[in-house]
Amino acid sequence: MTERIGIIGGGIVGIALARALAQAGIGEVTVFEKEHRLAAHQTGHNSGVVHAGLYYAEGSLKARLCVAGRSALREFCQEKNLPYREAGKLVVAVDESELPALAEIERRSRANGVPGLARLDGAARLREIEPHVAGVAAVHSPHTAVVDFAAITEALAQDVRAAGGTILLGQEVVSMAVAGSTVLVVAAGSEHVFDRVIACAGLQSDVVARLVGADPSPKILPFRGEYWSLSPERTDLVRGMIYPVPDPRFPFLGVHFTRGVYGDVHVGPNAVPALAREGYGWRAVSAKDTWESLRWPGAWPLAKKHWRMGVEEISASLVKTLYYRKARRFIPELAMADLTAKTAAGVRAQAWDRDGSLLDDFAVDQIGPVTLLRNAPSPAATSCLAIADHLVDRYLNVRRP
Ligand SMILES: Cc1cc2nc3c(=O)[nH]c(=O)nc-3n(C[C@H](O)[C@H](O)[C@H](O)COP(=O)(O)OP(=O)(O)OC[C@H]3O[C@@H](n4cnc5c(N)ncnc54)[C@H](O)[C@@H]3O)c2cc1C
Repeated sequence: MTERIGIIGGGIVGIALARALAQAGIGEVTVFEKEHRLAAHQTGHNSGVVHAGLYYAEGSLKARLCVAGRSALREFCQEKNLPYREAGKLVVAVDESELPALAEIERRSRANGVPGLARLDGAARLREIEPHVAGVAAVHSPHTAVVDFAAITEALAQDVRAAGGTILLGQEVVSMAVAGSTVLVVAAGSEHVFDRVIACAGLQSDVVARLVGADPSPKILPFRGEYWSLSPERTDLVRGMIYPVPDPRFPFLGVHFTRGVYGDVHVGPNAVPALAREGYGWRAVSAKDTWESLRWPGAWPLAKKHWRMGVEEISASLVKTLYYRKARRFIPELAMADLTAKTAAGVRAQAWDRDGSLLDDFAVDQIGPVTLLRNAPSPAATSCLAIADHLVDRYLNVRRP
């Protein structure tokens, strides 16, 4: 009998997984997406960067699946004629104090097999790549690229449908019950029976995990990232991507400049706690989400460890001058007026343990026939095709025809 497979989440990871299963003829695939369109949350609100694998700990899933995912995504975009521009990335040490952390990024990048990586020393070498940048040294990743992840998700979805899969929009999964070897799923008032279910629910991954009685930890801590734009007359300040040396204590990459696949340049994202899981501005507040975060046992250890950074990030979110100062370190010619109004924001689904630590790597749980992707932050969009293969091979244990 054909396997009946349900997937929760119509972001890039859920759809990539549905495609892998449907194209391999592994079963009858049905995707549930609670919004009325695909890519409505993280996938449609991000930096659009195809990472090359620079930052991630050697041997981690992030390192392996990012490198494999980048190549697979490039081939997919070529095959589907989707925009894919290898704009190249500079990770810049602005002064000598950042050189040890830059050396660690270089070491990790080489260990992870990042293609074409080069170390550049001296301001003149940096300016050959980015003529307006300031800094003492950098690593350059020429194959870091930019894409449109929402367009990629739509193209993946066309493949799902062409291979006989079903994608149901506007259908929130509100309950799941494991009964022997099957799973009963309720969405939009209808019941569906599956042999296995895989949840790729992003910002709701802990909520969905609780539906099948999984451990509430890790919980999702929503971190908003806000972007400013460079005014169209000043986009010449950036050719590709200019990134800071990230703070190793924090899982985010720091405010950067990215020339997007359509030629616009955005500056960001910062990282401020969001007051709602899907809260794209300071006015979006969910009392339930905020209360649940505050009473999580990890709240105080996390606040104690990162309060200084939190205050800095929140201040820079509210006061443009502070955000501007962060950005101007890399491009001294940047004027405050070159940053136009905040244009976009995304909310990161960052998994967070009971002890207050933020999970660094991708994480998966298995509860009987239900597979739960519990942490899939950046670079999960880059890695989507490789994550899909990893889930099929490692967790689903399905009979390949
Ligand atoms: C600001 C920001 C910048 C980023 N930049 C990059 C980048 O440059 N490069 C990169 O590779 N990654 C980046 N990322 C990370 C990347 O966007 C995510 O890792 C990736 O999109 C995760 O995909 P997903 O499918 O797991 O989650 P999502 O895209 O969030 O999709 C999950 C889906 O599940 C649905 N859902 C949830 N609960 C239910 C339910 N009960 N029933 C039905 N549907 C449900 C949601 O509506 C949602 O559509 C960034 C993220 C953010 C927020």
